[in-house]
Amino acid sequence: MKAALFYPPLDFRLEELPLPELQEGEALLEVKSCGICGTDLFKVREGKKSQVLGHEISGVIREVKGISPFSGGERVFVAHHIPCFLCRYCRHGNFSLCSQFQQTNIYPGGFSQFIRIPRVNLMQGTIMLPPQLSFDEATLVEPFACVLRNIKRIKPHPEDEILVIGGGPAGIMHVILLRLLGIKRIDVVEIQEERRGYLGKFPVDNIFSPGEGKKEYDIAIVCAGNLPAIQEGVKNIRRGGILNIFAQAPEDTRLDISPNQIYFECTFLGTYSSSPVEQREIMELLKERKIKVSSLITHTFPLSRIREAINIALKGKESCKIIIHPRE
Ligand SMILES: [Zn+2]
Ligand SMILES: [Zn+2]
Repeated sequence: MKAALFYPPLDFRLEELPLPELQEGEALLEVKSCGICGTDLFKVREGKKSQVLGHEISGVIREVKGISPFSGGERVFVAHHIPCFLCRYCRHGNFSLCSQFQQTNIYPGGFSQFIRIPRVNLMQGTIMLPPQLSFDEATLVEPFACVLRNIKRIKPHPEDEILVIGGGPAGIMHVILLRLLGIKRIDVVEIQEERRGYLGKFPVDNIFSPGEGKKEYDIAIVCAGNLPAIQEGVKNIRRGGILNIFAQAPEDTRLDISPNQIYFECTFLGTYSSSPVEQREIMELLKERKIKVSSLITHTFPLSRIREAINIALKGKESCKIIIHPRE
């Protein structure tokens, strides 16, 4: 099978790998679609390890070994990390900090023609697609689930005024889910002019460039992993507000804040990743067409053109969600 191996920095090579061998209870998935995520781009920029990236995966189960809830032929979404639901982190709802969560993974990665689904991922993180949902749309289950989990942690009040910083895929997904929850005022700050234009298609009240005329917000959701974006959030929350960080920043980033901002009841809150709970909730919303995701997908590429796809994603511009089709 072909897989796209990432070699730091910034290099991708298409290589031939052996088909993964299955152990008892595992399955082989033919990957139909895999989305490029902000965390893939973070690894492309900052990563030191060569690996097959990609974790927003949908496809068809081609083989199962041993006793399994699947028999082969099912169209599914597959989650790459599964929490144990038992440890201290899980009991506190910090599923993504669970050691099992970080150890479990599909093999070798979504930018590959086939992947092995370990037993625990098959039992708890593999969800059947409703017939009306395309493979491309189904890749959005994972990123939307992360956004939903973030919003659950923030617990916005209906009258909150919210500023989303970064109008890429994650920012837009926040806008879509927050609107569905009935949030009245949602503004977005976006640095790129092309993306400010693109944002007009979504239910945003005001679109600003950084530093432009704004006011105090109850919540700032930072969907860009860089210091100026986070500082934009710090500057724009009112007393009692929430600064939320949804994107990983480079390791050496340091934030200078006044402790009095915390004293005057601001909350600093981050969210990393999602759990099978939110993934199933998002699948239900997609099934009922409560959220429409196709407008988020701007580009699709065959695996052989992954470098081009990653370069477009890194630039941002008028691209939003970019999907790789490994079998083309
Ligand atoms: Zn993702
Ligand atoms: Zn756990």
